Amino acid sequence: SGAGKNILYLEDITVSFDGFKALNDLTMYIKTGELRCIIGPNGAGKSTMMDVITGKTRPDSGTCFFGQTLDLTRLSETEIATAGIGRKFQKPTVFPEHTAFENLELAMNDAKGTWHSLFTRMSGEQKSWIEETLAQVGLLDDRHKVAGLLSHGQKQWLEIGMVLMQKPQLLLVDEPIAGMTRQEVERTGQLLQSLAGKHSVVVVEHDMEFIRSIASTVTVLHQGSVLAEGTMDQVQNDPKVIEVYLGE
Ligand code: ADP
Ligand code: MG
Repeated sequence: SGAGKNILYLEDITVSFDGFKALNDLTMYIKTGELRCIIGPNGAGKSTMMDVITGKTRPDSGTCFFGQTLDLTRLSETEIATAGIGRKFQKPTVFPEHTAFENLELAMNDAKGTWHSLFTRMSGEQKSWIEETLAQVGLLDDRHKVAGLLSHGQKQWLEIGMVLMQKPQLLLVDEPIAGMTRQEVERTGQLLQSLAGKHSVVVVEHDMEFIRSIASTVTVLHQGSVLAEGTMDQVQNDPKVIEVYLGE
């Protein structure tokens, strides 16, 4: 079985901006199918780490492998997305004039990389895949609503759905619950948990209560490297972590 196998291998990654090391010998592994949360103070290197994984930023040194053989530092952003790494940014970028259904249809066509439009006839299989994804992100009942009229939380879920249309093996999610209501936060936690297993999910988040509720493994970044890793209880009781957070 594939249990416990890694899907992502970041080793000794260093990224400098004008001599300042945003990532400093970062080594981290993500297991296939796991849900992982990345926390750390502002400027710890969380976004830079996501940028390295998605090919937006090239490391000065170190290696970044997806699976055993795919060297991400040699691929373009598009090639990395095609290889199975999807990223949901903090700010939703849905098409507000189009319905939830059409947004997923556009994302599906985009992922295929060939020219399609909303007027291109879709197969029954594609239609049911879109409907399954809408159900998965809790938007089936609102599928004919234009995205501009969805709540903030629903827009975030729609965008997760759009990334899912790329069929990513690894899904990167940046601050998913910012600005959400309590109820939306709870549903987002359930959604992320439901995605794990089928996908590997890496979430950058600040909200400790939320991270505890989804019970993922937590990696604490500080000054561009891993400060601690473990369960929420383990990292919250780690003296190194306490020092960094109280010293903020
Ligand atoms: P986080 O997401 O954990 O808040 P970032 O990865 O955004 O941290 O940033 C890490 C550090 O690198 C910060 O000090 C930030 O100012 C710096 N940094 C990030 N991107 C750039 C850039 N393009 N140019 C210069 N400095 C940058
Ligand atoms: Mg950031």
